Parts: sequence; structure tokens; C-alpha cells
Amino acid sequence: MDSLEFIEECQEKVFAGIGLSSDDAEKLFNIPDENLKDLARCANEITRDFNGEKVDVEQLNNIKKNACSEDCTFCGQSAFFDTGIETYQLPSPGEVVLKAQKAKDEGAESYCLVAAWREPSKKDFLKVCNIISEINERVGISVECSLGFLTKEQAKKLKELKVKRYNHNLETAKSKFSEICTTHTYEDRLETLKIARDAGLELCTGGIIGLGETREQRLELTMELSRIYPEEVTINILVPVPGTPLELQTPIHNSEILRMFAVIRFLLPESVIKISGGRETNLDDSGEELLQSGANGIITSGYLTLGGNEAKKDREMIEKIGLKA
Ligand code: SAM
Ligand code: SF4
Repeated sequence: MDSLEFIEECQEKVFAGIGLSSDDAEKLFNIPDENLKDLARCANEITRDFNGEKVDVEQLNNIKKNACSEDCTFCGQSAFFDTGIETYQLPSPGEVVLKAQKAKDEGAESYCLVAAWREPSKKDFLKVCNIISEINERVGISVECSLGFLTKEQAKKLKELKVKRYNHNLETAKSKFSEICTTHTYEDRLETLKIARDAGLELCTGGIIGLGETREQRLELTMELSRIYPEEVTINILVPVPGTPLELQTPIHNSEILRMFAVIRFLLPESVIKISGGRETNLDDSGEELLQSGANGIITSGYLTLGGNEAKKDREMIEKIGLKA
């Protein structure tokens, strides 16, 4: 069987509801470069069949910035590195409500509150709950959170507050994790995902590629994600932050990025697969090709510490390629 036949056979299995084996996934991940376009096309057909034309557009609010106790080597918000990024503590609910309203007016369907800390203190958690209640009452946009490690009680409380989805990234392959973080473990991250799911929250998880990991390690992360089967996968592409240990990291090739998005789509046909941080910086076309190769979500209007495309520009890009924002 040649490579094209193999890709199409895998696609047929997906359409028939038969999960791919890990051997299939490995072979797809290593498909020769000359068949990458076939892989992308088939991933796109799966996306359209399971998810239609809609692109999930999300906006973020970094509600607590910088001075994080953890040493994740890619992160400009770690207190371990001198990155010159401003620091601030939690804003008032009123300030967040205004921004959430703006996101809704700009067409975002979800609004994610993100905090640069290991886990919320009791006091900060209460403040975040207050912010969520105010958004629910005054804006009415789907709220998501990324607040680091959670206790069972905290996860339950977020569910009560109608938080739809909890984001917590695995970041990289298990075999790479200790090289990129020493203040917590991969298992710690898996545990919070379990706590969130047990509380009835939908899951959003993924990681960052371009950290110097091998293709095999990207496959390893992909397989872990497929076991978790989250409602949403979020893939960041490293933006090297001056002052961090990865500031001089060589950029990952665009074809490697495409490979990963396409294979994730074969393994998780129904999930939202979001192109997150690094979209504008690493991709010449801001993600047009990836949105036709398996991805069906973006973050718009900037990231945690970095600017990005304006919502209007992203909406136009989505419409230009025949999809719906
Ligand atoms: N502190 C919490 C945590 O680690 O789970 C909350 C979210 S953390 C600030 C947000 C995510 O941004 C990280 O999990 C990582 O995947 C991504 N990220 C951080 N620095 C990045 C960078 N330099 N380039 C691309 N993505 C990055
Ligand atoms: Fe802290 Fe999250 Fe950044 Fe790690 S990724 S340093 S936990 S903010």
C-alpha cells in the first residue's frame, strides 16, 4: 500500500468510527513530505464532516500576570527569569466585565480567564469566583478558566459557576517534561485534568511545540492527548521570550506543525483543535493553511503577554477561506 492509500484508509476508519491504532498514528506522523498535502486534505475533510465550517474563536484575559513561582523554561511569566514583563495582581470584576463584553461584541464565543500562578490561593480563588459571577450576570459569554492546579472543591465550585471548560496544558511529552520544568511534574498536570473532568468540567489541554523536542516526542504528546480525549486541544508554537532559557531556540519548521495538527485531527475528529500562542509569529499566513489541515479554532486579539491580530482581521481571514467565524 502506498502512502496516499494508507492515509485514505485511515480516513475511512475515522469516518467509520474505528479508532486508529498507535501504529497507524505513528505511520501517519511520519508520512513522507511529498504526501503532506494529502494528509492535510484528509484531515480537513474529517474536520468539515465532524465540525462543519465553524471556527471557534476565543479571547483571553491574563488576570494575573508574571512573578509565577514555577520555572517553566518557555514562560516569560516565571519569576525565575528576568524578562522585564510587567507584573499585576487580580483586577476588579468591573474591569474584567468590560473586557469580556468587548470580546463578545467582537464575535468571540468564549472568554478564558488565565492566571500566571501555580495554583490559586483561597483568597484569590474567591476573587476569581466573584469575577466569573459578574461576567455571567452582566455579559453572558461562555467562560473558561486556566488557573493552574485545582483542588476537587475548587473544580466543583467552577462547575457550579457554569464554567464550561478548564484549560490545563500538558505542555510537552512526558519524556521531555523534566527538561522544561522542575517545580512540578507531568503527573501533577494529569492529576488536575482528572480533577476537572471528575467535577464535570469540559477539558481543554495541549501544549507547546518548538521547545526542541523531537518528532517522536510530539507524537508521544499527541498519543497522550488522544487518550484523554479532551473537548478541546490547544497547541501553542513557542514564542521565544528574551530572558528565558529558550530565548534562542531555533523555530520549528511549518511542515512539522502541520503534521501534528493533521494527525491530532485523525485521532480526535470531534474536538476543537485550536492554534494558540505563536500563530502570528510562527506562521507566515497566520494559520490559514492549518485551518484547512485539521485545526478549527483560534485565539484572537492577542495573548497573555504578547499582542496578536485584531479580531476583525482574523474574522476576515476565516471568511476568505470559506469558513465561518
Ligand atoms: N499558569 C497556568 C498553567 O501553567 O497551567 C496557567 C496558564 S499558562 C500562563 C498558559 C499557557 O501558555 C501555558 O500552559 C503554555 O502552554 C503557553 N505559553 C506560555 N509561554 C509561552 C510561549 N513563550 N510561547 C507559546 N506558548 C506559551
Ligand atoms: Fe507559571 Fe504557568 Fe508560566 Fe509555568 S506556564 S511558569 S505555571 S504561568
